[in-house]
Amino acid sequence: MKQYDVIVIGGGPAGLFAAGLAAHQGAQVLLLEKNARCGAKILITGKGRCNVTHSEDDPRKFVENFGRNGRALLTALYAFGVKDVVAFFEEHGVPLQIERGGRIFPKSGEAKDVQKALIAFARDAGVEIRTSCEVTKLLIDDGLIKEVETTSGTFAAINTIIATGGLSYPETGCTGDGYGWAKSCGHRLVTPEPSLVPVNLREAWTSEVSHFNLKNVRITLFSEGKKVDERFGEAFFTRSGIGGPIVLDMSSRIRDALKQGEVSLLLDLKPAVASDLFDKRLQRELAEHSNQDFGNSLGKLLPRDMIPVFLRLVGIDPKKKCHSVTRVERQRLLKLFKEFELEVTGCEGFRRAIITSGGISLKDVDMRSMRSKIVANLFFAGEMIDLDGPTGGFNLQECWSTGYLAGINAAKMQDD
Ligand SMILES: Cc1cc2nc3c(=O)[nH]c(=O)nc-3n(C[C@H](O)[C@H](O)[C@H](O)COP(=O)(O)OP(=O)(O)OC[C@H]3O[C@@H](n4cnc5c(N)ncnc54)[C@H](O)[C@@H]3O)c2cc1C
Repeated sequence: MKQYDVIVIGGGPAGLFAAGLAAHQGAQVLLLEKNARCGAKILITGKGRCNVTHSEDDPRKFVENFGRNGRALLTALYAFGVKDVVAFFEEHGVPLQIERGGRIFPKSGEAKDVQKALIAFARDAGVEIRTSCEVTKLLIDDGLIKEVETTSGTFAAINTIIATGGLSYPETGCTGDGYGWAKSCGHRLVTPEPSLVPVNLREAWTSEVSHFNLKNVRITLFSEGKKVDERFGEAFFTRSGIGGPIVLDMSSRIRDALKQGEVSLLLDLKPAVASDLFDKRLQRELAEHSNQDFGNSLGKLLPRDMIPVFLRLVGIDPKKKCHSVTRVERQRLLKLFKEFELEVTGCEGFRRAIITSGGISLKDVDMRSMRSKIVANLFFAGEMIDLDGPTGGFNLQECWSTGYLAGINAAKMQDD
């Protein structure tokens, strides 16, 4: 059996990056990926554009986005931070640009450029990549991983890095395999939960306007009638509810609120204009279309696809002339623009979760090296550890930073 220095299990962003780095240190590296091609999930990130990282380059501020566990990421960020990621992709033919909200994307707008650059980085460094090769078992003896069993043979290495991701979007290959192996050799597991998920609404009409972009809107979250969160930014309706960055970022609070009782969202489609001013705008609009049908008066205020839904919900006869719209009817219209109430019935599960929260407990990982505290020749990287951030490029940055530490350290810690 051929002996490698490092085996990396999982060819996602964390695994590819870790494997390339380990090989750059001179290690003989084998990467095992169960899909036919590495980086399947990268292709669907950032709506196919891949939000590679976030412009917040102060590690202390960056980690605040990861909640109570965030500080554990500091060493990894100091070792390989936002500026290093930008330089890495520039050097590997993927120039990046900063967009709204500090999100950093490839200038080409193509996630596949990120995937290709990572695969090329690993290959050029000498990594042996075996695809369609599913790891089925880790053979552990005397507290060390001795062999890695796969669907196409058994392999051995001095060190092993597990980078098999979480449980979200299982069709991309993420079925939580690494959790089981880690648990079976004594690592504690913080229960994995779907995180950054779209939410389901009672309202059935959302399917008519699904994936229609709501830019610059405000959404306020109410739990049992009490305001608990508020976000401004982008959202979109889905077939069964509402998603998009601001909803995803609120989803864990929504999940908690659902455990308490009734949950609703208040959508403000015109947050930059106060209600009384927007009412004046409505009056002007109705006056301008005075002798026309009400149904034809909303073109300047709403995207075309939304108009039929609004007309139905506002309860004003579309054939009614604008000059006969009453004050009470106008108030109903104003409410739809400024305080559109949506009833939350639930949150989506792993199938539509951007990320898995929970995972390998940080208590069992030396976060300065990404080495297991339980199995001396085992390292972890990426989504599978108990760290998850909001949308905006934070989660991929976690993959680059932890992948960096795991790759460098697995390559050098060969005998201690
Ligand atoms: C729709 C969507 C959009 C997203 N957009 C963004 C974004 O724009 N920016 C951002 O920062 N984050 C985004 N994320 C999150 C980001 O994709 C993840 O944080 C990241 O992919 C995790 O990388 P990873 O390498 O840890 O795991 P993964 O990408 O999940 O890769 C794990 C790999 O391991 C392989 N594997 C699993 N089990 C085995 C096995 N038994 N044997 C061999 N191989 C195995 C899998 O096939 C997979 O290729 C998005 C996620 C989704 C679902």
